[in-house]
Amino acid sequence: MSQHILTAVAWPYANGPRHIGHVSGFGVPSDIFSRYQRMVGNKVLMVSGTDEHGTPIQVQADKEGLSARQLADRYNRVIAEDLQALGLSYDLFTRTTTDNHYAVVQEVFKGLHANGYVFPKTTMGAISPSTGRTLPDRYIEGTCPICGYDGARGDQCDNCGNQLDPIQLVNPVSRINGEKPVFVETEHFMLDLPAFAEVLATWLQSKQGDWRPNVLKFALNLLGDLQPRAITRDLDWGVPIPLDGWSDQANKRLYVWFDAVIGYLSASIEWARRSGDPEAWRQWWQNPDARGYYFMGKDNIVFHAEIWPALLLGYNGQGARNGTPGALGALDLPSEVVSSEFLTMEGRKFSSSRQVVIYVRDFLARYDADALRYYIAVAGPENQDTDFTWSEFLNRNNGELVAAWGNLVNRSISMAAKNFGAIPEAGDLTDADRAMLERSRAAFPRVGAELGRSRFKNATNEAFDVIREANKYLADQEPWKIKDDPERVKSILHVALQVVDDAKTLLTPILPSSSNKIHEMLGGTGVWSGMPEIREVEENGRPYPIITGDYDGQARWEHTPIRPGVPLAPPTRLFTKLDPKIVDEELARLG
Ligand SMILES: [Zn+2]
Repeated sequence: MSQHILTAVAWPYANGPRHIGHVSGFGVPSDIFSRYQRMVGNKVLMVSGTDEHGTPIQVQADKEGLSARQLADRYNRVIAEDLQALGLSYDLFTRTTTDNHYAVVQEVFKGLHANGYVFPKTTMGAISPSTGRTLPDRYIEGTCPICGYDGARGDQCDNCGNQLDPIQLVNPVSRINGEKPVFVETEHFMLDLPAFAEVLATWLQSKQGDWRPNVLKFALNLLGDLQPRAITRDLDWGVPIPLDGWSDQANKRLYVWFDAVIGYLSASIEWARRSGDPEAWRQWWQNPDARGYYFMGKDNIVFHAEIWPALLLGYNGQGARNGTPGALGALDLPSEVVSSEFLTMEGRKFSSSRQVVIYVRDFLARYDADALRYYIAVAGPENQDTDFTWSEFLNRNNGELVAAWGNLVNRSISMAAKNFGAIPEAGDLTDADRAMLERSRAAFPRVGAELGRSRFKNATNEAFDVIREANKYLADQEPWKIKDDPERVKSILHVALQVVDDAKTLLTPILPSSSNKIHEMLGGTGVWSGMPEIREVEENGRPYPIITGDYDGQARWEHTPIRPGVPLAPPTRLFTKLDPKIVDEELARLG
């Protein structure tokens, strides 16, 4: 039965280009999952966009001599182009600075307010005396009042690990310009997280055995210490607070994390409007049979397994104070929070400032998108922190993509094209032929079960086991040595081409571009697996790119018999063999 699947992908922050660590956490895993779900016939809605508010954008804009909006415009475009080039099949990739997003965020705030889950509170906030702007906690540095460490930040001390408030720091200074902040009374709205403790605990307990254990454990631990959390800031760059006495204050805005996490909902609503059926989003948000999967790096678990569910529960009127659903109606909670661990780079943390980084754009200028997708699928930070090394990238590309998979495709198609000019008919099959065909068909449910549970390493390895066996089958059968039995050669190549076709299907979610090429090489016409496109749109006179696409290709998660007689041309190159010297070249580029 066809199911509605929401793939909610973490929103990349638009203060600079994104690197391969970012896309290994949220990007490639969510796309593999979505492509698989479409292939089994589910109705997928995959949404995200750039996260464009908050102080770090303002700080970076000041540095580059731009307005916050100009900076957001610049990196929204860079990020959208990079994610499209990586083949990520968003139904809509938008941004948080649209009128629609503002309206949906304000609606969620109003619903929470009406149900009594947000309340105002007077706190002490740091401001920069020279600009009058609020200094966020992490932009204040000073001496730790607990351990005496010099470089403690306003939110915590990295030396002793204690959580801090900026006002506790001894000799606090602004990290932006070194001046001493002043502390003033300021009023902010707080989200009453403790009012959701009980219902969140019940909800999380129901996910035992379903979620990745590391994610569930982390989320359950958070419940032990739920405190009210500020959802507004003193800042002029963000979504205004939709209440009388607040909305006209130029320096009060909703906190960036509050608006960004609502993006999944606002992007779904925007997608529905663009699709011509403004109510269509409800199929993914108000449907007991729909499932919502949220993809992110582990630093975002708190927002997706605790705060976003709390916002939804509050909007629905399902916390300790009860209430009634807001104007949009009650909204579904996440079915699963699929978090990745961290990727490091040659043993070090990614750092743009120290140049321990490779940006997606630079990577794709030198290497194929499928090569990066493959690496992330088979060697990414799925269950534990994982190190990216250029030598492993080289070895996997040359050994697995080129030598194992590319070679199987190449020699099967080129032998068949050269000897018969078409897909040959099989004659009598031997036990070895039948075993090979059976092995390949049996991989569909096995690989599918892994992909459906976001176990991409297992899925990739299972698919490559078929490829390795097919290479062994060809090496054992040695069709190139058979001179006097063309019928036998036909049978062997028929089996080999059938396995190539099966493996192409098995690998389509991971390697969509090369699978599309193989579809054509085997005589297929039309779109096999749809690829994303950039479309230029405009709002209030501002042009900007969105990612969207038509993903209703022919790709189905099933074995399809190849058709004898379909003409075959000599194969074209699928993957690029890399020169080992790229390892030293890339290492030299690192800071
Ligand atoms: Zn300390």
